[in-house]
Amino acid sequence: MTEMQEERAKILMVDDEKAYLDVLGGLLRPYYRTIAAKDGEQALQRLKTQPLPDLILLDVTMPGMNGYEVCRAIKDNRVTKDIPIIFITGNSGTEDETRCFEAGAVDYVAKPFRPTVVLARIKNHMELKRRGDMLERLAILDGLTGIPNRRRFDHVISYEWERSLRYQHVLTLIMMDIDFFKLYNDHYGHAGGDTCLKKVAGAISAAMPRTIDLAARYGGEEFACILPETSGKGALAVAERILARVRDLQIPHAQSRVADHVTVSIGVTTMVPNMGQSFPDLIKRADEALYQAKHDGRNRVVAG
Ligand code: GH3
Ligand code: MG
Ligand code: MG
Repeated sequence: MTEMQEERAKILMVDDEKAYLDVLGGLLRPYYRTIAAKDGEQALQRLKTQPLPDLILLDVTMPGMNGYEVCRAIKDNRVTKDIPIIFITGNSGTEDETRCFEAGAVDYVAKPFRPTVVLARIKNHMELKRRGDMLERLAILDGLTGIPNRRRFDHVISYEWERSLRYQHVLTLIMMDIDFFKLYNDHYGHAGGDTCLKKVAGAISAAMPRTIDLAARYGGEEFACILPETSGKGALAVAERILARVRDLQIPHAQSRVADHVTVSIGVTTMVPNMGQSFPDLIKRADEALYQAKHDGRNRVVAG
């Protein structure tokens, strides 16, 4: 594959009739990379195990889960909810059209479809998606470190809090802060401090491979990780991994009072939200654990 082809946008086609998959595939392949799924379950499986597509073409009438159900599952997942969905369906009443949009689709195409029209619509939505993605990336990433910023963190923590409340899942928050970073800046200069922040941000992100998890820059030299559906034991393992990753960077820190290299202090907390609480309670508890880690001698993880 050439580099150009690798960069092409990807479309997931979901239809239980192989003939339609073949037609759509033939239509799209000159412009896009395509993957196919023969039913809703397989589509959701593909979304879990493969890099995300830029757009989904979804049949409504399928055995097992129908298109509306598949659409709802995709829209209910933070990782996949922004992928545009176009329904392709044999039902072509006004009511069905309305249902498609209500389910969260961006467009609707009735079978039998005219290939040129389908292609034109797909191209339009792909272009919109490309522009939207670019703007969103700029809005949610921290300019210095390139990882998600505070704004993104605020958005995700409230979303995940609500989701955990609704499903009564555990939710973990990890807060961390670089040790003696003021002394680091004083000794190595502000530019040196910036380079250090970038490296630490990279190490934290690398310690969290699950796509559902979020590692963000919370403030100056503070970082925060949101881990949905992660129990206390699992969370502690991730926190220890972050601690080790930062240590393994071995960034010299001549002024640190706890090591000869840059270290972090980490506070971890895990909760199953209940109605009487809100996500600031989670942040407060993680903050208190972080404060305790500082108090207990820094360069450590404290669960609270
Ligand atoms: P502690 O171990 O208790 O956390 O001590 P500390 O020195 O790390 O904590 P303090 O909050 O006193 O200092 C944080 C420092 O982080 C001060 C500030 O100049 C620096 N800082 C915050 N944001 C940035 C940044 O974007 N770039 C650089 N270079 N430094 C930053
Ligand atoms: Mg601080
Ligand atoms: Mg600090």
